[in-house]
Amino acid sequence: MAYKEGQPQAVLREAYEPPAYLLDHTDLIFELAEGVTEVTAALALRRAPGQGAAPLVLQGQDLELLGLALDGVPLSGNEYRIEGDTIVVPAMPEEGTLTIKTRIFPEKNTALEGLYRSGGMYCTQCEAEGFRRITYSLDRPDVLSRYRTTIRGDGAVLPIMLSNGNEVSRQTLADGRQEVVWEDPFPKPSYLFALVAGDLQWIEDRFVTVSGREVTLRIYTEPHNIAQVDYAMDALKRSMRWDEETYGREYDLDIFMIVAVDDFNMGAMENKGLNIFNTSCVLATPEFTTDLGFQRVEAVVAHEYFHNWSGNRVTCRDWFQLSLKEGFTVLRDAQFSADQNSPTVKRIEDARFLRTAQFAEDASPMAHPVRPDSYLEISNFYTLTVYEKGAEVVRMMRTLLGAEAFRRGTDLYFDRHDGQAATCEDFVLSLEAASGADLAQFRRWYSQAGTPVVSVQSAYAAPSP
Ligand SMILES: [Zn+2]
Repeated sequence: MAYKEGQPQAVLREAYEPPAYLLDHTDLIFELAEGVTEVTAALALRRAPGQGAAPLVLQGQDLELLGLALDGVPLSGNEYRIEGDTIVVPAMPEEGTLTIKTRIFPEKNTALEGLYRSGGMYCTQCEAEGFRRITYSLDRPDVLSRYRTTIRGDGAVLPIMLSNGNEVSRQTLADGRQEVVWEDPFPKPSYLFALVAGDLQWIEDRFVTVSGREVTLRIYTEPHNIAQVDYAMDALKRSMRWDEETYGREYDLDIFMIVAVDDFNMGAMENKGLNIFNTSCVLATPEFTTDLGFQRVEAVVAHEYFHNWSGNRVTCRDWFQLSLKEGFTVLRDAQFSADQNSPTVKRIEDARFLRTAQFAEDASPMAHPVRPDSYLEISNFYTLTVYEKGAEVVRMMRTLLGAEAFRRGTDLYFDRHDGQAATCEDFVLSLEAASGADLAQFRRWYSQAGTPVVSVQSAYAAPSP
């Protein structure tokens, strides 16, 4: 049937294959200019251990390729080929640095994935597969890389230029443009990459971590919103302390930044060290924000901050494991909100939301397991089931094990998988190993869709006289 030819192909969880190449380092240079941005990416690639010679396949989307070089030598037309949205290098050596020059058009990017420009500001959104709109790369969550990002542009128009990690240099170039260089020492998948550039203001604060390290905290907004971010800063500091006390998780970079943007299309995104929020999730002021509004800001700031460990330091092997980071992090932000406010009220609100919204999804044709088995388009799986039911599944395991054994389990999970891309199964295995509990039967919660119907039989035996 002819109409089937253009249909998207389903991706299957069972078809997972480890990456053929690893990416030790990613060096990015952005030349931001009106109407067009040039990106130079130097990818330090290495064949994965145990993998035989395989062609290198890089993903890209809506990119204009300007040049390709291997270890500084330009590749000729017969040394690579473009196949649909990929570049294939058939005779990739065991190790080498591939430099890719591309041209992108952030002003025309209406997908709002990758790098886009809105209201004069440059902004990125790379989860789940937006990085491939910036440059050709191994755009999959189980390929982790250290990033160095150089941003060049007109300092009068773009006084603020941000990316992940720590700022390592800033200078005015001979042609008058500004250049800022960022380096992120923690390996991360491409979906956590972020870049922001524009005319922003900020507020600044300090946080001293449990081991005595001083961290600079900044919240950036467009100038007209700057008076409304104090509460978000307060919530951030409380989140950082809470995660140290409750989960033993300490912040790891010298700076933590939140950027609040009017035109950011997602709610909020946990890019390493540089969270990007829609202003609706950050702005709060006693004059016009309700109590519920304050609680929402507090919960979203906490949620994205908590991802620094549950999501960033330990990330997902593939997108079927999305609930590994989202279910666990929703539970963590719910615990935080409960501790900061009324645990009873928070629990009633969450249970009511689950019953009205998630139960309805689970009873509909949209029903799918917390860990889906296939997808056509991963962006359709950012669902109440993956987030809210996923959080309840982790909460049930916490209840089964008890708070102390659960904490031993999460400690073990973070120890075992720090710097790795893990699976929902890895999480359950850590809980089992640390507690001695057998969660075999419990695994069905990850694979079975639908709201379970529980039948209870009760019997009462009167005490003998
Ligand atoms: Zn999240």
